[in-house]
Amino acid sequence: MIEYTNKTKCPLSILRPLFEQTAEAVGIDTTLPLRVKITQGRTGSIKGFALRRVEIWDEIRITLPSNPVLYNGKVRLFRSSPLDLAISLWRVIAHEWGHVLDYQALARGEKREFTYYRDLSSRRAIRHDDRPQEQRANSYAKDAEWQAYSGKVPCFKSAIAELVEWWEQTARGRS
Ligand SMILES: [Zn+2]
Repeated sequence: MIEYTNKTKCPLSILRPLFEQTAEAVGIDTTLPLRVKITQGRTGSIKGFALRRVEIWDEIRITLPSNPVLYNGKVRLFRSSPLDLAISLWRVIAHEWGHVLDYQALARGEKREFTYYRDLSSRRAIRHDDRPQEQRANSYAKDAEWQAYSGKVPCFKSAIAELVEWWEQTARGRS
């Protein structure tokens, strides 16, 4: 079961479907204890983080971009359209659930390779995106996205559309 903490202005009813769809598409077991923390940043970027509390819960933390602002009648969202942002958010959540998929596999006693350093004696770090756990999470997220685009994720389009609409309305309301 997923426990949510939402510290953003965006209602959980709009955000929750994105978390549920991605969890389902990535294939994580939502009957196990899971936590989601959603906060809002001050910039246009979306950030994600996954952590494992062994035998207690797995958690993902997502930072939403700041609220959109209107400039000269146009919604300005830091180089992105609200639609691009909504899809990026979906993608970031799927990626973080991808890490949780690995954590759940570890909890079942399966092996997964996690590498942070190229060489333990010199402690030379491997670039973040080259770490095996990141490549796995990216491939789980890509697969989830492929399912969404091929119509296998129920209500994908309407969930994205609702978030886009909320962002646009928020921008209008602040002008
Ligand atoms: Zn990652």
